[in-house]
Amino acid sequence: MASPQIIIVGSGIMGACFAYAAAERGCQPLIISGDAPDHGRTATATSWAWINASSASDHTYFRLRYQSLQRWQVWMQRLDGLQYSAQASYCWDLSPVEIKTTASKLTNFGYPCSILNAASLINHLPYLRDIPVAALHLPIEGAVEPASTAKLLLEASGAKIVSAHCHSLLASADKVTGVMTDQGEYSADEVILATGNGTSRILDTIGVDFPMASTHGLLVRSKPIPSMLSGLVTAPKYHVRQQPDGRLIIGGTFGAYDPAKGTGHLARDAEAQLNLIREAFDAPAPLELDSFTLGYRPIPEGGMPKIGRVMQNSGKLLTGLYLAVMHSGFSNGAGVADAAMDELLDGEASALLSPFWAN
Ligand SMILES: Cc1cc2nc3c(=O)[nH]c(=O)nc-3n(C[C@H](O)[C@H](O)[C@H](O)COP(=O)(O)OP(=O)(O)OC[C@H]3O[C@@H](n4cnc5c(N)ncnc54)[C@H](O)[C@@H]3O)c2cc1C
Repeated sequence: MASPQIIIVGSGIMGACFAYAAAERGCQPLIISGDAPDHGRTATATSWAWINASSASDHTYFRLRYQSLQRWQVWMQRLDGLQYSAQASYCWDLSPVEIKTTASKLTNFGYPCSILNAASLINHLPYLRDIPVAALHLPIEGAVEPASTAKLLLEASGAKIVSAHCHSLLASADKVTGVMTDQGEYSADEVILATGNGTSRILDTIGVDFPMASTHGLLVRSKPIPSMLSGLVTAPKYHVRQQPDGRLIIGGTFGAYDPAKGTGHLARDAEAQLNLIREAFDAPAPLELDSFTLGYRPIPEGGMPKIGRVMQNSGKLLTGLYLAVMHSGFSNGAGVADAAMDELLDGEASALLSPFWAN
């Protein structure tokens, strides 16, 4: 049977993962995207890009994230240049009791995990000054460099990319048949929306409500320093990793950041975030602020990923349209795209994705 004609709207990490998963199955989708993945308007360019399953709140979500992490590992073996730029997580943004219960839960799930006491932690993090009594050690987790990873997957997929804004979905009866862009109309058997925070606006054009609860996130980059950290650290007040170019990339807590506090506060908050690292580590060189980004996490209402077909407001299912909108697009991207392409091409529901169906 001939491959269906697929359009992917969006070339952030979700669009890139879909394009790569499609190419693995011999499909050549067309990508239509307003911004390239290194554009600061995308969530991808402003991401910390940690790939993990340990932060999942329940077993169903853990399963999706662990499968995704394993799919990333497969892709890293297949694709030259696709790799972690920081490997192993060290987490103590939990109480000592929570660290124990999380470790035993993850171990029961078969996830590599151990608890390090202060003496062993310092062997892994020799520059750490502010040493906790215990930390989770998650050796198979890591981070990728976000924009270059999306670009690599897009390039490897061989997909043609059209740089255009998608104004509207085109639909007839209960089926989406294509998109209208500022470069004209494109028809498809399947349109995949990998449009992050742009999704509600596109769905509006066919009268489908898609409420979001997106939040801001402030990330700070230091100027490059000599090698200090090979893994990722999540502590109660900060998270930090080091990029291959020597820059530290630092976030505060994982909660929502409020950017609407008043003049000059973003620069002050960025400096305060960097200060937390100055206090917590004996860095091998003075830490100076390089830049900061204010990203917008695409979080569907309810907090969980939304994947798959959507229901029209009339209650009828729409065919020809598939979406994948989520925070943790890096953790989830490879696994979601892989399972979704099976759903799309074989027509069989995925047990991994069904708890996150958008309809
Ligand atoms: C501060 C911060 C830290 C984060 N840390 C992590 C982390 O550690 N681990 C993790 O897994 N996740 C993390 N995330 C979340 C993760 O970055 C996102 O889930 C992911 O980047 C979403 O990717 P996406 O491709 O869906 O969206 P985006 O990267 O925003 O891409 C959307 C794409 O759709 C295109 N688009 C939208 N509307 C249209 C339109 N109408 N026409 C044409 N094109 C359109 C855009 O141009 C863009 O190409 C973080 C996010 C932020 C902001």
